[in-house]
Amino acid sequence: MKAAVLYNYNEDLVIEDVPLGDPGDREVLVRIVATGVCHSDLSAAKGKSLPPLPIILGHEAAGIVERTGSAVSKVRKGDHVILSWAPNCGECFYCHKRLPTMCDTYGAAAGGGTLWNGARRLGTRERPIHHFTCLSSFAELAVVPESACSKIAEDVPFEVAALVGCAVTTGFGAVVNDARVEPGEVVGVIGVGGVGINAIQAAALAGAEAIAAIDINPEKEAVARAFGATHFVNSATQDVVAELKVLSRGRGADSIVDCTGRPAAIALAYDGVRLGGSVVSVGIAARGEMVCLPASTLPNTQKRIIGSNYGGGVPERDFERILALYRAGRFELDRQVGKRVALEAINDAFRWLEQGVLARTLICFDH
Ligand SMILES: [Zn+2]
Ligand SMILES: [Zn+2]
Repeated sequence: MKAAVLYNYNEDLVIEDVPLGDPGDREVLVRIVATGVCHSDLSAAKGKSLPPLPIILGHEAAGIVERTGSAVSKVRKGDHVILSWAPNCGECFYCHKRLPTMCDTYGAAAGGGTLWNGARRLGTRERPIHHFTCLSSFAELAVVPESACSKIAEDVPFEVAALVGCAVTTGFGAVVNDARVEPGEVVGVIGVGGVGINAIQAAALAGAEAIAAIDINPEKEAVARAFGATHFVNSATQDVVAELKVLSRGRGADSIVDCTGRPAAIALAYDGVRLGGSVVSVGIAARGEMVCLPASTLPNTQKRIIGSNYGGGVPERDFERILALYRAGRFELDRQVGKRVALEAINDAFRWLEQGVLARTLICFDH
C-alpha cells in the first residue's frame, strides 16, 4: 500500500509502497478515505514528541472497514468508521476507572510504536515500520485495534468524520467535559486553530455569555467570530487579563481553554481566570518545557488547572453526540474542512500548518 513514512525528524515524509500484514484476531483492516493533518503529527515529525522511527504518522481519520480479524464483533466489512487515536482494552486499571484514554495497554502500544502486545503490521520483519497511536492513517490502508473503530452513519461525509476523530472532539470535550461551561459564563480560548474553533463553538452551544478568542494572529478573528466568539483579543498587542476582566465585571473568565501548549499561554490563562475558575490545558507542549506559576496563590485562589486529553473523557461517546448535533444543524463541521489534497502533498500540508493555515487540510484517497 502507498504510505507516507517519516525516517528522520525534521525531514520530509517519503511516499512509498509499504508492506502491510493481515489483521490479527481483534484487529481491523480499514481503507482510509480521509485523514486530517493535525499539530500532533507535525510535532512528531519535528521530533518534539519523539516517536520511534521509522513511523507512519496520521491519527485523525475515517474510512471503510475492509476486513476484520476472526474475533472482531464491533464492526464488519463495509462499515463506515471514525478511528479513535486512543483505543482502549477495557480491562486495565484505567479502563476500570472509566478513564479509557489513559488505558495502560494503549499506553504501552503507543509508546512502543506498535499495536496491542507489541504486534506490528507495517513493513517487514527485517525493516519494521512503527505504528503511530495505533492508527498510522497517512496511508491507503491501516490495521487498527477493534476498539479504535466507531461505526458511523453512511451519510456523514468522510472529511467531517475524520475531523471528529481528533480536533473536533478535543475542543468540544475540553469545554463540555472539563471546563463544564454553564449558561452565562465567560470563557476564553487561547489559540484559534482546529481545536480552538471547536472549543469556541462548544462554549457558544453551552450558553456562554461572552467567548473571547485569544490569538497572536489578527487574521484569526474572522474565523473565531464565525464559530461563535463574541470578542477577539490579540495577545501580542493587548493586555489579555485586563480585557477578560472587562468582559466579566472585573472578576476574570470562568474558564480558559489553552489550545497552544505554550507555557506562557498556560500561565496567562492562570492569571486570566477568576477565583475558583478553571484553566483547561489541551495544547501539547514540547517535552521538558515548564510552566511557572505563583505558588502562594494556588490554595487561596482555588483556581483549578485541568489536563484535558482527547476531550477529557470518552471519545466514542462524544463522537456520537457531536455527530447528532451536526445532523441537527447545531454544530458546524462542514466549514472546518479546508483543502483536500492527495497523499503526495503531505509535506506541503505540514508547511501550511506551520504557517497557520485557517482550515484543516485533509489528505483524501480516491479509492
Ligand atoms: Zn490530532
Ligand atoms: Zn485499558
